[in-house]
Amino acid sequence: MTGETACCPTLTALPAGADRNWAKRAVAILEGDGRRSADTHLVNPVFPGLKGISIYLKDESTHPTGSLKHRLARSLFLYGICNGWIREGTTLVEASSGSTAVSEAYFAHLIGLPFIAVVPRSTSRQKIEAIERFGGRCHFVERPGEVYDIAVQIARESDGHYLDQFTYAERATDWRGNNNIAESIFGQMISEADPVPTWVVMSAGTGGTSATLGRYIRYRNFDTRLCVVDVENSAFYDAWRTGDRNAVCNAPSRIEGIGRPRVEPSFMPGVIDHMIKVPDAASIAAMHVLSERLFRRVGGSTGTNFFGLCWIAGCMMAAGERGSLVSLICDSGDRYTSTYYDPAWLKENSIDTDPYREMLEAFLDSGHFDPGVLTAEK
Ligand SMILES: *Cc1c(COP(=O)(O)O)cnc(C)c1O
Repeated sequence: MTGETACCPTLTALPAGADRNWAKRAVAILEGDGRRSADTHLVNPVFPGLKGISIYLKDESTHPTGSLKHRLARSLFLYGICNGWIREGTTLVEASSGSTAVSEAYFAHLIGLPFIAVVPRSTSRQKIEAIERFGGRCHFVERPGEVYDIAVQIARESDGHYLDQFTYAERATDWRGNNNIAESIFGQMISEADPVPTWVVMSAGTGGTSATLGRYIRYRNFDTRLCVVDVENSAFYDAWRTGDRNAVCNAPSRIEGIGRPRVEPSFMPGVIDHMIKVPDAASIAAMHVLSERLFRRVGGSTGTNFFGLCWIAGCMMAAGERGSLVSLICDSGDRYTSTYYDPAWLKENSIDTDPYREMLEAFLDSGHFDPGVLTAEK
């Protein structure tokens, strides 16, 4: 008898299934959210001046939590549960400039877990209200660069899980398809006159969306090129230009959701064909111009996207090229009524959108492209 047990002395009793049952329920709930959601529209607004160029905007503002971060949050939750990091009772913690935390608070509420968002104090009131309405808690920091360490610390102290969008955004999303945003866009383009876009234009926060787009373009052998647009206070542009991943920027980005103080791990410079650094006043001008033409308000990062898209359209028209261009509506302008849509805020921040507005209006109406306003400033 002693001899028999001696040959397998380390075998322990099989664990009960309670933990797996919780995970099964949580995965089913996340799947349910996906099943209840329709794909987002790829809108095709008409701009009379843009002869030969078709513009498409993937409208991510219509997700239940109002931004493209709905996709990311669902993926991060599934990744965490399937890795065994998120379990029954786990406190979830995130470092965020706002939108991700809104979506994560929603999913945390769905599966019954506590959620703490570490956010800069400058985060818009509308986003903070949304986080709290879904039962999340906000922990404020003064400088955006502090969010990472504080989030790690809170997760450690609460024996919780740091969701860490900046690290996991690029890998939690299935890069070869599974209805990721790139597969959805290229699928929705199939019946268009120019089904393969000449360029896709996207801004970078985590860098996850541009990574997904760039990889998918290569994987499917499309002739599309990827342009990433960056903002004034951000480390991404310098990193892409010089190849230095240690680039930093000490001033905080004024365009919520995009522009980072450091080069985030999810930023993949190797899949980016071109980058443009867009002045903040140009982003906000483009946001206003596009909002007026869509008859509804879009957010600041959508303005950055749209400015970059107009820039490329102008270059293509000047070179006599035709084709289609795709970008994203990342979130709605309703989140920024007290900032980008408030003339007093623009004045306080010395943001003069007039020259860029005039340039964009003229371009969209008549096709006359005059980038003089940009070169004059630099
Ligand atoms: C996150 C975010 C982006 C950028 O997307 P990433 O995939 O994180 O690079 C753009 N706009 C808004 C409003 C965002 O929240």
